Amino acid sequence: MGIGRIAVALAAAAALTACASVVEGSPKGERPDPTKVAGLEISNGPSGPKQGVPDADLNVENGDGGEMDQLAINTLADVQEFWKAEIPRAFAGKTFEPVKRFLSYDSAGKGVEVCKLDTTGVANAFYCALDDSITWDRGELLPMLKDAFGPMAVVTVLAHEMGHAVQYKLGAASNIGPNTPSIVKEQQADCYTGVFMRWIAENKSKHFELSTGEGLNQVLQTMFFIRDSAGTSFEKQGAHGSAFDRVSAFQFGFVRGAARCAEINEAEINKRITERPFDLSDKDQGQGRGNARIDQDKYLKALDESLRDAYKSSGAAFPTVDKGGIKPCNDAQTTSPATFCPSTNQIQLDLPSLVKIGTPPKKGTKGGIGDFAAFAVIASRFSLSIQHATGFPLDDDAAGQRTACLTGAWAGLTNRPDAAAGLRLSPGDLDEAVAELLADNSLIASDVNGKAVPSGFARVEAFGDGFFRGSSYCVKKYSI
Ligand SMILES: [Zn+2]
Repeated sequence: MGIGRIAVALAAAAALTACASVVEGSPKGERPDPTKVAGLEISNGPSGPKQGVPDADLNVENGDGGEMDQLAINTLADVQEFWKAEIPRAFAGKTFEPVKRFLSYDSAGKGVEVCKLDTTGVANAFYCALDDSITWDRGELLPMLKDAFGPMAVVTVLAHEMGHAVQYKLGAASNIGPNTPSIVKEQQADCYTGVFMRWIAENKSKHFELSTGEGLNQVLQTMFFIRDSAGTSFEKQGAHGSAFDRVSAFQFGFVRGAARCAEINEAEINKRITERPFDLSDKDQGQGRGNARIDQDKYLKALDESLRDAYKSSGAAFPTVDKGGIKPCNDAQTTSPATFCPSTNQIQLDLPSLVKIGTPPKKGTKGGIGDFAAFAVIASRFSLSIQHATGFPLDDDAAGQRTACLTGAWAGLTNRPDAAAGLRLSPGDLDEAVAELLADNSLIASDVNGKAVPSGFARVEAFGDGFFRGSSYCVKKYSI
Protein backbone atom coordinates (compact mmCIF):
# COMPACT_ATOMS: atom_id res chain seq x y z
CA MET A 1 0.00 0.00 0.00
CA GLY A 2 1.01 3.55 -0.36
CA ILE A 3 -0.12 6.84 1.01
CA GLY A 4 -2.09 8.66 -1.65
CA ARG A 5 -1.18 12.18 -2.66
CA ILE A 6 -4.73 13.42 -2.38
CA ALA A 7 -6.62 12.86 0.81
CA VAL A 8 -10.25 13.52 0.04
CA ALA A 9 -12.97 12.41 2.43
CA LEU A 10 -15.36 9.93 0.88
CA ALA A 11 -18.82 11.27 0.49
CA ALA A 12 -20.63 8.02 0.01
CA ALA A 13 -19.36 5.35 2.35
CA ALA A 14 -22.05 2.76 2.73
CA ALA A 15 -23.99 2.33 5.92
CA LEU A 16 -24.17 -1.00 7.65
CA THR A 17 -27.51 -2.11 8.95
CA ALA A 18 -28.53 -5.40 10.38
CA CYS A 19 -32.23 -4.79 10.02
CA ALA A 20 -34.20 -7.21 7.93
CA SER A 21 -35.52 -4.56 5.57
CA VAL A 22 -32.12 -4.52 3.84
CA VAL A 23 -32.71 -7.94 2.41
CA GLU A 24 -36.39 -7.53 1.61
CA GLY A 25 -37.08 -7.67 -2.06
CA SER A 26 -33.67 -9.05 -2.98
CA PRO A 27 -34.09 -11.49 -5.86
CA LYS A 28 -34.50 -15.13 -4.96
CA GLY A 29 -31.26 -17.04 -5.23
CA GLU A 30 -29.26 -13.91 -4.50
CA ARG A 31 -28.69 -14.96 -0.89
CA PRO A 32 -26.05 -17.66 -0.87
CA ASP A 33 -25.99 -20.54 1.52
CA PRO A 34 -22.76 -19.94 3.45
CA THR A 35 -22.30 -23.66 3.90
CA LYS A 36 -21.94 -24.02 0.11
CA VAL A 37 -19.62 -22.73 -2.61
CA ALA A 38 -21.51 -21.06 -5.47
CA GLY A 39 -24.51 -23.25 -4.65
CA LEU A 40 -22.53 -26.53 -4.51
CA GLU A 41 -21.86 -28.54 -1.37
CA ILE A 42 -18.37 -27.97 0.04
CA SER A 43 -16.59 -31.29 -0.32
CA ASN A 44 -13.09 -32.45 0.43
CA GLY A 45 -13.20 -35.68 -1.54
CA PRO A 46 -10.68 -36.70 -4.18
CA SER A 47 -9.69 -34.38 -7.03
CA GLY A 48 -7.93 -35.38 -10.21
CA PRO A 49 -8.26 -38.21 -12.73
CA LYS A 50 -11.10 -40.64 -11.95
CA GLN A 51 -9.92 -44.16 -11.24
CA GLY A 52 -10.91 -47.07 -13.48
CA VAL A 53 -12.10 -44.99 -16.43
CA PRO A 54 -10.75 -45.91 -19.87
CA ASP A 55 -8.45 -43.27 -21.39
CA ALA A 56 -9.74 -41.05 -24.19
CA ASP A 57 -8.27 -41.23 -27.65
CA LEU A 58 -7.31 -38.17 -29.67
CA ASN A 59 -4.87 -37.83 -32.51
CA VAL A 60 -1.79 -36.05 -31.14
CA GLU A 61 1.15 -35.08 -33.36
CA ASN A 62 4.65 -35.58 -31.99
CA GLY A 63 3.43 -37.19 -28.75
CA ASP A 64 5.43 -39.69 -26.71
CA GLY A 65 2.46 -41.71 -25.43
CA GLY A 66 3.47 -40.92 -21.84
CA GLU A 67 1.56 -39.90 -18.74
CA MET A 68 1.53 -36.15 -19.48
CA ASP A 69 0.21 -36.61 -23.00
CA GLN A 70 -2.53 -38.94 -21.74
CA LEU A 71 -3.51 -36.43 -19.06
CA ALA A 72 -3.71 -33.77 -21.78
CA ILE A 73 -5.73 -36.03 -24.08
CA ASN A 74 -8.25 -36.93 -21.35
CA THR A 75 -8.60 -33.24 -20.49
CA LEU A 76 -9.07 -32.10 -24.07
CA ALA A 77 -11.57 -34.89 -24.83
CA ASP A 78 -13.70 -33.90 -21.82
CA VAL A 79 -13.45 -30.17 -22.39
CA GLN A 80 -14.49 -30.62 -26.03
CA GLU A 81 -17.40 -32.83 -25.03
CA PHE A 82 -18.45 -30.11 -22.59
CA TRP A 83 -18.36 -27.27 -25.12
CA LYS A 84 -20.11 -29.33 -27.78
CA ALA A 85 -23.15 -29.51 -25.51
CA GLU A 86 -22.75 -26.11 -23.82
CA ILE A 87 -22.25 -23.79 -26.81
CA PRO A 88 -25.68 -24.41 -28.39
CA ARG A 89 -27.25 -24.11 -24.95
CA ALA A 90 -25.54 -20.83 -24.00
CA PHE A 91 -25.34 -19.24 -27.48
CA ALA A 92 -28.48 -19.80 -29.53
CA GLY A 93 -27.77 -20.89 -33.09
CA LYS A 94 -24.08 -21.63 -32.44
CA THR A 95 -22.32 -24.98 -32.54
CA PHE A 96 -18.82 -26.01 -31.48
CA GLU A 97 -16.50 -27.50 -34.10
CA PRO A 98 -13.73 -29.62 -32.55
CA VAL A 99 -10.18 -28.23 -32.62
CA LYS A 100 -8.33 -29.43 -35.74
CA ARG A 101 -4.84 -30.22 -34.42
CA PHE A 102 -3.22 -31.27 -31.17
CA LEU A 103 0.55 -31.17 -30.78
CA SER A 104 2.85 -32.26 -27.98
CA TYR A 105 6.53 -31.38 -27.59
CA ASP A 106 9.33 -31.55 -25.05
CA SER A 107 10.80 -28.09 -24.48
CA ALA A 108 14.11 -29.70 -23.54
CA GLY A 109 14.18 -31.76 -26.74
CA LYS A 110 13.79 -31.17 -30.45
CA GLY A 111 11.48 -28.28 -31.25
CA VAL A 112 8.48 -28.35 -33.57
CA GLU A 113 7.27 -25.61 -35.89
CA VAL A 114 3.75 -24.50 -35.04
CA CYS A 115 1.99 -21.16 -35.28
CA LYS A 116 5.10 -19.64 -36.93
CA LEU A 117 7.01 -20.52 -33.75
CA ASP A 118 9.86 -22.91 -32.95
CA THR A 119 9.08 -24.54 -29.61
CA THR A 120 12.72 -25.32 -28.71
CA GLY A 121 13.20 -24.29 -25.05
CA VAL A 122 9.69 -22.84 -24.76
CA ALA A 123 7.86 -24.14 -21.66
CA ASN A 124 4.32 -23.22 -22.66
CA ALA A 125 0.88 -24.33 -23.78
CA PHE A 126 -1.05 -22.37 -26.38
CA TYR A 127 -3.96 -22.20 -28.76
CA CYS A 128 -3.17 -21.09 -32.32
CA ALA A 129 -5.99 -19.59 -34.36
CA LEU A 130 -3.99 -19.80 -37.62
CA ASP A 131 -4.39 -23.57 -37.85
CA ASP A 132 -6.88 -24.15 -35.02
CA SER A 133 -4.42 -26.10 -32.87
CA ILE A 134 -3.60 -26.62 -29.19
CA THR A 135 0.04 -27.35 -28.31
CA TRP A 136 1.66 -28.22 -24.98
CA ASP A 137 5.07 -28.81 -23.48
CA ARG A 138 4.98 -32.29 -21.94
CA GLY A 139 8.65 -32.03 -20.86
CA GLU A 140 8.70 -29.14 -18.42
CA LEU A 141 5.44 -27.16 -18.10
CA LEU A 142 2.93 -29.94 -17.53
CA PRO A 143 5.03 -31.96 -15.02
CA MET A 144 5.92 -28.76 -13.14
CA LEU A 145 2.23 -27.82 -12.80
CA LYS A 146 1.30 -31.33 -11.70
CA ASP A 147 4.09 -31.48 -9.11
CA ALA A 148 3.29 -28.05 -7.69
CA PHE A 149 -0.52 -28.09 -7.60
CA GLY A 150 -1.68 -31.59 -8.56
CA PRO A 151 -3.08 -32.91 -11.86
CA MET A 152 -6.00 -30.45 -11.92
CA ALA A 153 -3.44 -27.70 -12.56
CA VAL A 154 -2.75 -29.31 -15.94
CA VAL A 155 -6.49 -29.53 -16.59
CA THR A 156 -6.82 -25.83 -15.67
CA VAL A 157 -4.13 -24.68 -18.08
CA LEU A 158 -5.38 -26.77 -21.00
CA ALA A 159 -9.00 -25.76 -20.34
CA HIS A 160 -7.79 -22.16 -20.59
CA GLU A 161 -6.28 -22.89 -24.03
CA MET A 162 -9.57 -24.48 -25.09
CA GLY A 163 -11.23 -21.29 -23.81
CA HIS A 164 -9.30 -19.45 -26.55
CA ALA A 165 -10.59 -21.97 -29.12
CA VAL A 166 -14.14 -21.36 -27.88
CA GLN A 167 -13.81 -17.57 -28.18
CA TYR A 168 -12.28 -17.71 -31.69
CA LYS A 169 -14.98 -20.06 -32.88
CA LEU A 170 -17.71 -17.84 -31.40
CA GLY A 171 -16.10 -14.68 -32.84
CA ALA A 172 -18.50 -11.75 -32.59
CA ALA A 173 -20.81 -13.76 -30.29
CA SER A 174 -17.94 -13.66 -27.80
CA ASN A 175 -17.00 -10.04 -28.55
CA ILE A 176 -13.85 -11.18 -30.38
CA GLY A 177 -12.58 -9.37 -33.48
CA PRO A 178 -9.24 -8.82 -35.20
CA ASN A 179 -8.25 -5.97 -32.87
CA THR A 180 -9.38 -7.41 -29.54
CA PRO A 181 -6.70 -6.66 -26.91
CA SER A 182 -4.90 -9.56 -25.20
CA ILE A 183 -6.39 -8.84 -21.81
CA VAL A 184 -9.95 -9.32 -23.11
CA LYS A 185 -9.04 -12.66 -24.68
CA GLU A 186 -7.16 -13.88 -21.62
CA GLN A 187 -9.88 -12.88 -19.19
CA GLN A 188 -12.47 -14.62 -21.33
CA ALA A 189 -10.33 -17.77 -21.49
CA ASP A 190 -10.05 -17.77 -17.66
CA CYS A 191 -13.81 -17.28 -17.43
CA TYR A 192 -14.53 -20.17 -19.83
CA THR A 193 -12.15 -22.28 -17.72
CA GLY A 194 -14.36 -21.54 -14.70
CA VAL A 195 -17.48 -22.68 -16.60
CA PHE A 196 -15.82 -26.01 -17.42
CA MET A 197 -14.48 -26.48 -13.88
CA ARG A 198 -17.98 -26.14 -12.47
CA TRP A 199 -19.10 -28.98 -14.75
CA ILE A 200 -16.32 -31.15 -13.31
CA ALA A 201 -17.24 -30.08 -9.75
CA GLU A 202 -20.82 -31.17 -10.54
CA ASN A 203 -19.34 -34.59 -11.33
CA LYS A 204 -20.37 -34.56 -14.98
CA SER A 205 -16.91 -35.11 -16.46
CA LYS A 206 -15.93 -38.58 -17.64
CA HIS A 207 -12.26 -38.47 -16.65
CA PHE A 208 -11.98 -35.96 -13.79
CA GLU A 209 -13.43 -35.09 -10.42
CA LEU A 210 -12.99 -31.93 -8.39
CA SER A 211 -13.82 -31.27 -4.75
CA THR A 212 -15.14 -27.79 -4.05
CA GLY A 213 -12.91 -27.49 -0.97
CA GLU A 214 -9.31 -28.56 -1.36
CA GLY A 215 -9.58 -29.34 -5.11
CA LEU A 216 -10.94 -25.97 -6.12
CA ASN A 217 -8.34 -24.32 -3.85
CA GLN A 218 -5.59 -25.97 -5.88
CA VAL A 219 -7.16 -24.71 -9.11
CA LEU A 220 -7.24 -21.16 -7.71
CA GLN A 221 -3.64 -21.54 -6.52
CA THR A 222 -2.76 -22.46 -10.11
CA MET A 223 -4.48 -19.28 -11.33
CA PHE A 224 -2.51 -17.35 -8.72
CA PHE A 225 0.74 -18.93 -9.88
CA ILE A 226 0.24 -17.97 -13.55
CA ARG A 227 -0.58 -14.31 -12.74
CA ASP A 228 1.26 -11.39 -14.31
CA SER A 229 3.94 -9.91 -12.07
CA ALA A 230 2.95 -6.88 -9.98
CA GLY A 231 3.25 -3.64 -11.90
CA THR A 232 2.28 -5.03 -15.33
CA SER A 233 -0.06 -2.79 -17.34
CA PHE A 234 -3.24 -4.51 -18.47
CA GLU A 235 -2.88 -2.69 -21.77
CA LYS A 236 0.40 -4.45 -22.52
CA GLN A 237 0.37 -6.92 -25.41
CA GLY A 238 0.15 -10.37 -23.83
CA ALA A 239 -1.19 -9.17 -20.45
CA HIS A 240 -3.20 -11.85 -18.63
CA GLY A 241 -4.21 -9.97 -15.49
CA SER A 242 -3.19 -9.97 -11.86
CA ALA A 243 -4.09 -13.00 -9.73
CA PHE A 244 -7.11 -11.08 -8.44
CA ASP A 245 -8.24 -10.30 -12.00
CA ARG A 246 -7.66 -13.87 -13.16
CA VAL A 247 -9.44 -15.45 -10.21
CA SER A 248 -12.32 -12.97 -10.62
CA ALA A 249 -12.78 -13.95 -14.28
CA PHE A 250 -12.62 -17.65 -13.37
CA GLN A 251 -15.27 -17.10 -10.70
CA PHE A 252 -17.59 -15.25 -13.09
CA GLY A 253 -17.57 -18.34 -15.31
CA PHE A 254 -17.92 -20.79 -12.43
CA VAL A 255 -20.81 -18.90 -10.84
CA ARG A 256 -22.62 -17.34 -13.78
CA GLY A 257 -21.78 -19.43 -16.84
CA ALA A 258 -20.59 -18.94 -20.42
CA ALA A 259 -22.84 -16.01 -21.31
CA ARG A 260 -21.06 -13.95 -18.62
CA CYS A 261 -17.70 -14.75 -20.22
CA ALA A 262 -18.86 -13.44 -23.59
CA GLU A 263 -19.78 -10.15 -21.89
CA ILE A 264 -16.11 -9.47 -21.18
CA ASN A 265 -15.10 -6.77 -23.66
CA GLU A 266 -12.93 -3.66 -23.57
CA ALA A 267 -15.53 -1.53 -21.80
CA GLU A 268 -16.14 -4.20 -19.15
CA ILE A 269 -12.39 -4.62 -18.64
CA ASN A 270 -11.81 -0.88 -18.31
CA LYS A 271 -14.40 -0.72 -15.55
CA ARG A 272 -13.24 -3.78 -13.62
CA ILE A 273 -9.58 -4.63 -14.17
CA THR A 274 -7.26 -3.85 -11.26
CA GLU A 275 -3.88 -4.50 -12.87
CA ARG A 276 -1.87 -1.30 -13.27
CA PRO A 277 1.77 -0.25 -13.50
CA PHE A 278 3.60 1.20 -10.52
CA ASP A 279 3.56 4.98 -10.30
CA LEU A 280 5.42 7.59 -8.27
CA SER A 281 3.40 6.93 -5.12
CA ASP A 282 4.50 3.26 -5.08
CA LYS A 283 7.94 3.74 -3.59
CA ASP A 284 10.38 1.03 -2.59
CA GLN A 285 11.14 1.38 1.10
CA GLY A 286 13.29 -1.67 1.41
CA GLN A 287 10.38 -4.14 1.32
CA GLY A 288 9.95 -4.21 -2.45
CA ARG A 289 8.06 -1.63 -4.47
CA GLY A 290 4.60 -0.79 -3.13
CA ASN A 291 5.24 -2.54 0.19
CA ALA A 292 5.09 -0.50 3.38
CA ARG A 293 6.42 -1.38 6.85
CA ILE A 294 3.21 -1.93 8.71
CA ASP A 295 4.70 -1.11 12.12
CA GLN A 296 5.51 2.45 11.06
CA ASP A 297 3.17 4.87 12.77
CA LYS A 298 2.29 6.80 9.63
CA TYR A 299 0.92 3.67 7.97
CA LEU A 300 -1.04 2.48 10.97
CA LYS A 301 -2.45 5.99 11.27
CA ALA A 302 -3.40 6.08 7.59
CA LEU A 303 -5.01 2.64 7.92
CA ASP A 304 -7.03 3.78 10.91
CA GLU A 305 -8.14 6.93 9.07
CA SER A 306 -9.19 5.00 5.99
CA LEU A 307 -11.19 2.51 8.08
CA ARG A 308 -12.93 5.25 10.05
CA ASP A 309 -13.71 7.01 6.82
CA ALA A 310 -15.07 3.87 5.22
CA TYR A 311 -17.45 3.22 8.10
CA LYS A 312 -18.28 6.71 9.27
CA SER A 313 -21.91 6.53 8.19
CA SER A 314 -22.48 3.39 10.28
CA GLY A 315 -22.67 5.54 13.41
CA ALA A 316 -20.64 2.91 15.25
CA ALA A 317 -18.28 3.79 18.09
CA PHE A 318 -14.91 2.91 16.61
CA PRO A 319 -12.69 0.39 18.37
CA THR A 320 -9.55 1.35 20.24
CA VAL A 321 -6.28 -0.18 19.07
CA ASP A 322 -3.66 -1.74 21.34
CA LYS A 323 -0.32 -2.31 19.63
CA GLY A 324 1.15 -4.16 22.58
CA GLY A 325 0.29 -7.72 21.61
CA ILE A 326 -2.65 -10.11 22.00
CA LYS A 327 -4.31 -10.49 25.40
CA PRO A 328 -7.15 -12.73 26.59
CA CYS A 329 -10.69 -11.60 25.86
CA ASN A 330 -13.84 -12.27 27.92
CA ASP A 331 -16.26 -13.06 25.15
CA ALA A 332 -14.25 -14.36 22.18
CA GLN A 333 -11.27 -16.55 21.40
CA THR A 334 -8.22 -14.54 20.47
CA THR A 335 -6.75 -14.67 16.97
CA SER A 336 -3.24 -13.90 15.80
CA PRO A 337 -1.64 -11.61 14.63
CA ALA A 338 -4.67 -9.34 15.17
CA THR A 339 -7.73 -9.89 17.30
CA PHE A 340 -10.99 -8.16 18.11
CA CYS A 341 -12.49 -8.31 21.61
CA PRO A 342 -16.21 -7.43 21.57
CA SER A 343 -16.63 -6.72 25.31
CA THR A 344 -13.91 -4.05 25.30
CA ASN A 345 -14.41 -2.97 21.66
CA GLN A 346 -10.67 -3.22 21.23
CA ILE A 347 -8.40 -4.44 18.44
CA GLN A 348 -5.06 -5.84 19.59
CA LEU A 349 -2.09 -6.18 17.32
CA ASP A 350 0.98 -8.38 17.44
CA LEU A 351 3.18 -6.06 15.37
CA PRO A 352 6.24 -8.33 14.91
CA SER A 353 4.00 -11.07 13.47
CA LEU A 354 2.17 -8.56 11.28
CA VAL A 355 5.52 -7.37 9.92
CA LYS A 356 6.35 -11.00 9.09
CA ILE A 357 3.13 -11.46 7.11
CA GLY A 358 3.63 -8.02 5.57
CA THR A 359 7.09 -8.78 4.22
CA PRO A 360 7.00 -10.35 0.75
CA PRO A 361 9.15 -13.43 0.15
CA LYS A 362 12.55 -12.73 -1.38
CA LYS A 363 13.77 -15.03 -4.15
CA GLY A 364 14.60 -18.45 -2.77
CA THR A 365 13.61 -17.63 0.81
CA LYS A 366 10.46 -18.24 2.76
CA GLY A 367 8.79 -14.99 3.64
CA GLY A 368 5.38 -13.65 4.41
CA ILE A 369 2.92 -12.40 1.81
CA GLY A 370 3.11 -8.62 1.47
CA ASP A 371 1.96 -5.48 3.23
CA PHE A 372 -1.63 -5.60 2.07
CA ALA A 373 -2.21 -9.03 3.64
CA ALA A 374 -1.25 -7.53 7.01
CA PHE A 375 -3.31 -4.36 6.50
CA ALA A 376 -6.33 -6.42 5.44
CA VAL A 377 -6.01 -8.70 8.47
CA ILE A 378 -6.35 -5.62 10.69
CA ALA A 379 -9.18 -4.27 8.52
CA SER A 380 -11.03 -7.58 8.90
CA ARG A 381 -10.94 -7.27 12.71
CA PHE A 382 -12.04 -3.64 12.44
CA SER A 383 -15.03 -4.74 10.35
CA LEU A 384 -16.00 -7.14 13.15
CA SER A 385 -16.22 -4.18 15.49
CA ILE A 386 -18.57 -2.42 13.07
CA GLN A 387 -20.63 -5.59 12.64
CA HIS A 388 -20.88 -5.89 16.42
CA ALA A 389 -21.97 -2.27 16.81
CA THR A 390 -24.63 -2.63 14.13
CA GLY A 391 -26.15 -5.77 15.60
CA PHE A 392 -24.63 -8.64 13.62
CA PRO A 393 -23.57 -11.86 15.31
CA LEU A 394 -19.80 -12.31 15.04
CA ASP A 395 -19.80 -16.07 14.87
CA ASP A 396 -22.77 -17.19 12.77
CA ASP A 397 -22.26 -19.26 9.61
CA ALA A 398 -21.96 -16.18 7.41
CA ALA A 399 -19.64 -14.18 9.70
CA GLY A 400 -16.44 -15.22 7.90
CA GLN A 401 -17.81 -14.32 4.48
CA ARG A 402 -19.33 -11.08 5.73
CA THR A 403 -15.96 -10.13 7.21
CA ALA A 404 -14.11 -10.95 3.96
CA CYS A 405 -16.72 -9.02 1.98
CA LEU A 406 -16.49 -5.94 4.22
CA THR A 407 -12.69 -6.09 4.06
CA GLY A 408 -13.03 -6.18 0.26
CA ALA A 409 -15.36 -3.18 0.42
CA TRP A 410 -12.76 -1.21 2.37
CA ALA A 411 -10.08 -2.30 -0.16
CA GLY A 412 -12.35 -1.06 -2.96
CA LEU A 413 -12.48 2.39 -1.37
CA THR A 414 -8.67 2.54 -1.23
CA ASN A 415 -8.53 1.76 -4.96
CA ARG A 416 -10.15 4.97 -6.10
CA PRO A 417 -8.07 7.82 -7.47
CA ASP A 418 -9.61 10.00 -4.75
CA ALA A 419 -8.80 7.28 -2.22
CA ALA A 420 -10.05 8.07 1.23
CA ALA A 421 -7.83 9.45 3.94
CA GLY A 422 -4.45 8.65 2.58
CA LEU A 423 -4.17 4.90 2.04
CA ARG A 424 -3.94 3.86 -1.56
CA LEU A 425 -3.81 0.40 -3.13
CA SER A 426 -0.51 -0.47 -4.87
CA PRO A 427 0.00 -2.97 -7.70
CA GLY A 428 0.20 -6.45 -6.19
CA ASP A 429 -1.86 -5.59 -3.12
CA LEU A 430 -4.98 -7.47 -4.17
CA ASP A 431 -2.90 -10.51 -5.08
CA GLU A 432 -1.58 -10.48 -1.53
CA ALA A 433 -5.20 -10.59 -0.36
CA VAL A 434 -5.82 -13.58 -2.63
CA ALA A 435 -2.76 -15.34 -1.23
CA GLU A 436 -3.96 -14.79 2.35
CA LEU A 437 -7.49 -15.89 1.48
CA LEU A 438 -6.23 -19.13 -0.08
CA ALA A 439 -3.95 -19.93 2.86
CA ASP A 440 -5.04 -22.60 5.35
CA ASN A 441 -5.85 -20.27 8.22
CA SER A 442 -7.06 -17.14 6.49
CA LEU A 443 -7.95 -14.49 9.05
CA ILE A 444 -9.48 -12.07 6.53
CA ALA A 445 -12.29 -14.60 5.97
CA SER A 446 -12.74 -15.74 9.54
CA ASP A 447 -15.19 -14.95 12.30
CA VAL A 448 -14.33 -13.34 15.62
CA ASN A 449 -12.95 -16.64 16.96
CA GLY A 450 -10.73 -17.20 13.93
CA LYS A 451 -12.94 -19.83 12.32
CA ALA A 452 -12.26 -19.47 8.59
CA VAL A 453 -14.79 -20.07 5.80
CA PRO A 454 -13.96 -23.64 4.74
CA SER A 455 -13.71 -22.96 0.98
CA GLY A 456 -11.01 -20.71 -0.49
CA PHE A 457 -13.27 -20.07 -3.47
CA ALA A 458 -16.02 -18.75 -1.21
CA ARG A 459 -13.52 -16.56 0.66
CA VAL A 460 -12.17 -14.90 -2.48
CA GLU A 461 -15.67 -14.55 -3.90
CA ALA A 462 -16.87 -12.75 -0.77
CA PHE A 463 -13.85 -10.41 -0.79
CA GLY A 464 -14.49 -9.67 -4.49
CA ASP A 465 -18.19 -9.02 -3.84
CA GLY A 466 -17.25 -6.31 -1.37
CA PHE A 467 -14.49 -4.92 -3.56
CA PHE A 468 -16.73 -4.54 -6.60
CA ARG A 469 -20.09 -3.82 -4.99
CA GLY A 470 -19.46 -2.19 -1.62
CA SER A 471 -20.46 -2.86 1.96
CA SER A 472 -24.23 -2.56 1.62
CA TYR A 473 -24.09 -5.48 -0.81
CA CYS A 474 -22.09 -7.50 1.76
CA VAL A 475 -24.80 -6.96 4.33
CA LYS A 476 -27.50 -7.92 1.87
CA LYS A 477 -25.78 -11.03 0.55
CA TYR A 478 -24.06 -12.41 3.65
CA SER A 479 -26.77 -12.35 6.25
CA ILE A 480 -28.44 -15.43 7.59
ZN1 LIG B 1 -4.37 -17.49 -22.76
